[in-house]
Amino acid sequence: MKKGILLLAILIIFSCKNETEGNGKINVVTTTTMITDLVKNIGGDYINVEGLMGSGVDPHLYKASEGDVTKLVDADIIFYNGLHLEGKLVEIFEKMEGGDKTPIALADEINKNQLIGSEYFASNYDPHVWFNIDFFKQFVEKVTKVLSEKDPVNAEKFRENEKRYLDDLNKLKEDVQGVVDVLPEEKRILVTAHDAFNYFGKAYGFNVVGLQGLSTATEAGVQDVQKLAAFIIEKNIKAIFIESSVPRRTIEALQAAVKSKGHEVVIGGTLYSDALGNAGTAEGTYVGMYRYNIKTIVSALQ
Ligand SMILES: [Zn+2]
Repeated sequence: MKKGILLLAILIIFSCKNETEGNGKINVVTTTTMITDLVKNIGGDYINVEGLMGSGVDPHLYKASEGDVTKLVDADIIFYNGLHLEGKLVEIFEKMEGGDKTPIALADEINKNQLIGSEYFASNYDPHVWFNIDFFKQFVEKVTKVLSEKDPVNAEKFRENEKRYLDDLNKLKEDVQGVVDVLPEEKRILVTAHDAFNYFGKAYGFNVVGLQGLSTATEAGVQDVQKLAAFIIEKNIKAIFIESSVPRRTIEALQAAVKSKGHEVVIGGTLYSDALGNAGTAEGTYVGMYRYNIKTIVSALQ
């Protein structure tokens, strides 16, 4: 990591890249797949977007490669989630602050009073804010503003895309509520591999229980598994869920613990938590991911 920072410092000094180089489009670098998808929706073909993390990648554990450092140096704008979601990239982003391309933490747009507190993160807040669709809309507004300022020639296009995308997100919000309404309140208990769904739970009345803490950097212990198994039996929970960016063994251990007590819980499917599905599929977009997750959750718990 230290080597990466040194390289970054050297590259910043010797690099004088500007937006007229290359194909004339501004270069935007993003971290998570959710943010990459968002920025592509607003920027369309008018910008270059380079997402550092792919499908199935865990942002809590992701470390920058030297190739990533080069991308960051060549960027005109850098968008990331913030609130210490990208725990291993924070150091690099902080080093870049104050320069002409201070990385932009989109979660900073959200009023702190609306955030869920967490002792697991140096930020003291749960960073999984994109699961509140209204917060994600605030990300959209910020991205549109920043792109428009950097590239005023295409600002009108960005605003058109923003309007269309916000319409999509409003429709998504309505549809998700419609699906959730079908599930009786007492069945709204979501057990997953790690605590990514607290904002989702707050928005739709789910009791969310993660086997690991908020960050996947801490592994669940045997005691956690036993305690959660007892909870599942007590609440008569039908299904628990794997996450695409977290190894499945933790949830399988939980299922086995329930079974060893003479009960049955099924694995209700794989949810997309900290990363979207494969590019080119419906789940590879934020909207498609959300629709897929809610359908999977509700049909397994019903
Ligand atoms: Zn997470």
